[in-house]
Amino acid sequence: YLRAELISVGTELLLGDIVNTNAQYISKELAALGIGVFHQSTVGDNPQRLLECFDEALKRSDLVITTGGLGPTKDDLTKEMAAEYFGQEMVLHEESWEYIKERCMKFAPGKPIPENNKKQAMFPVEATVLKNNNGTAPGAIFEKDGKRIIVLPGPPWEMKAMFNESVRPFLQQFTDSMLVSRVLRFNGIGESALELEIEDILDNQTNPTVALYAKEMEVLIRITAKAKDDEEAKELLDAKVAEIRERVGKYIYAEGGEELVDGDSKIEETVAKMLVEKGLTIATAESCTGGLVAGTLINYPGISDVFLEGCVTYSNAAKVKRLGVSEETLENYGAVSPQTATEMAEGIRKGLGADIGLSTTGVAGPGGGTDEKPVGLVYTAISINGETKVRKNNFRGDRQKVRRRAVRQILIDLKS
Ligand code: ATP
Ligand code: MG
Repeated sequence: YLRAELISVGTELLLGDIVNTNAQYISKELAALGIGVFHQSTVGDNPQRLLECFDEALKRSDLVITTGGLGPTKDDLTKEMAAEYFGQEMVLHEESWEYIKERCMKFAPGKPIPENNKKQAMFPVEATVLKNNNGTAPGAIFEKDGKRIIVLPGPPWEMKAMFNESVRPFLQQFTDSMLVSRVLRFNGIGESALELEIEDILDNQTNPTVALYAKEMEVLIRITAKAKDDEEAKELLDAKVAEIRERVGKYIYAEGGEELVDGDSKIEETVAKMLVEKGLTIATAESCTGGLVAGTLINYPGISDVFLEGCVTYSNAAKVKRLGVSEETLENYGAVSPQTATEMAEGIRKGLGADIGLSTTGVAGPGGGTDEKPVGLVYTAISINGETKVRKNNFRGDRQKVRRRAVRQILIDLKS
């Protein structure tokens, strides 16, 4: 089967001026096609080093995909070096030249066509030219003795479009399998505890493979199936997910595709969307989270239909005055107590006639903790119509983490 590598070309990459998102994109796409990527390298715009790179890569692999260095200037050399490596001569590719001229006239009407753009239309006759619908630099597939170099432009949107339009269809011939992933996100269970629960599944994985990832605030599992088509992949994934759900299903709060891996959490979006769809109005009364719950919900465009008010009632006085928390409650149980959390959530809900009232009160730290009420103790309450549920949380981490965890927890509870 095919062995592939990537070469990212550009001095900017070596200097750390830009992040190599092209390599990430192509690696993911090749994985999804079931084509293994065995090496990635990055090289500057330097002819000698580029040639060395091609040589090393094609000794190990059958296919090299490059990005960058297809521009009109002298330091853009990728294509030239690919041709030199295969000993192929560059000639003008008429069709590309016509296209480049047309594009220049369209985007800079009346201006003369820069002569150096002609460089972008030069290709060996042996190469397959790939049209660039988003820029002037065409890409190409170079080929000799079963070895291939595919050169793609550097700008990500040009590269991606070319990959989708030309490269993926070309690569399809080398693969009869695909990789599809399912992602499970967990809340309320730590990495090691989860690992213990599914130890045998992790030890005996073949297809699908099962991997555990610890993120900042939670753990996730990625299950990847190798299959000949979507249907077979779905079957394999469904079975493995069912097996995992049977053991630890109660901790799973989201299931989805690869998109679930990125970002801290998709929970805020899910919850905000749900509120808007159901038309449930909401108001928040926050102490230790200081407006983070409100801010997180308000991140979601469209929340204005349902979000009424967010109060940061940090002091006891504010809890009494704004929310109607009774002084007796504060005196008897303290601000960080289930009783206060309940009265806060009910107070904000009733005060505004909202469907839902949320509240948080806790010890975010680093100071202020006692044996009885240690740093990380946070009460979160949700008041819906007549009913209020309080949760006692003991979060670990510094002040910011405790606050962020409290926000996450209340949103997760709100979802269910
Ligand atoms: P141009 O015609 O714009 O010169 P090019 O094919 O020569 O295109 P480069 O000059 O290498 O490509 O890169 C153009 C721009 O594309 C860079 O400034 C950078 O913003 C982006 N780019 C290049 N390579 C990458 C990469 N590996 N990952 C993300 N962005 C990249
Ligand atoms: Mg360039």
